[in-house]
Amino acid sequence: MTAFMRMDLSRDAEKPHPSLVPPRPPALEGLLCAASHRQNAPVENADATAGSPSESDEGEGSGAHATDVVDLGNDVFMIDTRMGGYEGITASYLIKGSKPCLVETGTARSAPVVLAQLAALGIDPDDLATIVVTHIHLDHAGGVGDLAKLFPRAQVVVHERGARHLADPAKLVASAHRVFGEAMDRLFGDLLPTPAERLTVLGDKGTIDLGDGRSLAAFHNPGHASHHIGLFDTLTGDLYTGDAAGVYIPETAEVRPSTPPPDFDLVLTLNSLHRMSEANATRLLFSHYGPVTDVASTLDESEAQLHYWVESVERARGETEDLDHAIALVAERDRAGRAGFYADRGVVEKYEALSSVGANVMGVARWLDRPGGDGLAPR
Ligand SMILES: [Zn+2]
Repeated sequence: MTAFMRMDLSRDAEKPHPSLVPPRPPALEGLLCAASHRQNAPVENADATAGSPSESDEGEGSGAHATDVVDLGNDVFMIDTRMGGYEGITASYLIKGSKPCLVETGTARSAPVVLAQLAALGIDPDDLATIVVTHIHLDHAGGVGDLAKLFPRAQVVVHERGARHLADPAKLVASAHRVFGEAMDRLFGDLLPTPAERLTVLGDKGTIDLGDGRSLAAFHNPGHASHHIGLFDTLTGDLYTGDAAGVYIPETAEVRPSTPPPDFDLVLTLNSLHRMSEANATRLLFSHYGPVTDVASTLDESEAQLHYWVESVERARGETEDLDHAIALVAERDRAGRAGFYADRGVVEKYEALSSVGANVMGVARWLDRPGGDGLAPR
């Protein structure tokens, strides 16, 4: 552990971190990126995965697949968490080294998969030094409580605005059950609590020691979520983007925005994108999904898509005051402009389960209607 982490730990041991008080009631304070759900919506709206999660859900709960780990070089391994039984939708990354670090856990339901893959990679229960999550949405951090138990020496690193929900996830989990209904168990499972003394809380910046002079430099990059962090590998130049640069679709090599309620903020997202560009990364490692070496053009495209998306929502809202109608208008325009993506029904269903048009429109609409705003994005 670094000095920074020890310092935060001792502070936590004395008393609850003051910043762990959430800035708003935890109703939808981070469930997942942008699944098909609405606050207080009927359960069926959450069930966008109907008929889809591949032929088997044996990927979750019952073990690992040999093809689900990809060696990305420099001791970095990508693990398919098989979220919801889907293949290639949500990744965890292991940075092996002398102080092994897991970036993202996937869902609680994915914990057995991740455990098995880590074992296959030679990581015994006492070996894992760190678990770090880019943010606490359930597709990224739902398995933190399970994996913290399974790897008792691992310290869990999270931004200070998300930490409270890892220590005491009861409200978050209850809220998620209300929103997702039966789909909650199928897609995510319950986030278990992590003892406060196991949490290392980050502010604007932090460092995770990977051993042998290598580290992950963490920096706050809000916008997708208020507590989102980016992670930069000082040895390789890899940048773990979480959802701050949107979701990458490996099947069609394109990025799509992920702008869910309640946190999405266009200005913060753009600032974070610029900060990621300035990191001069050699490679982007998307949690959804996989590595991208065309760094500059991908981040540029992510920004362009974000503007396009927000403008599309603005235009739709100019044509109708009905949110569902606005969602339909944006979806229609999206389909017209994304022939490649929409040509593959399997891909569409998979990503609609993760980052739906409806939720992304709602996130933008919520931000446009923010207090003090005029209903439009700043020009
Ligand atoms: Zn996500």
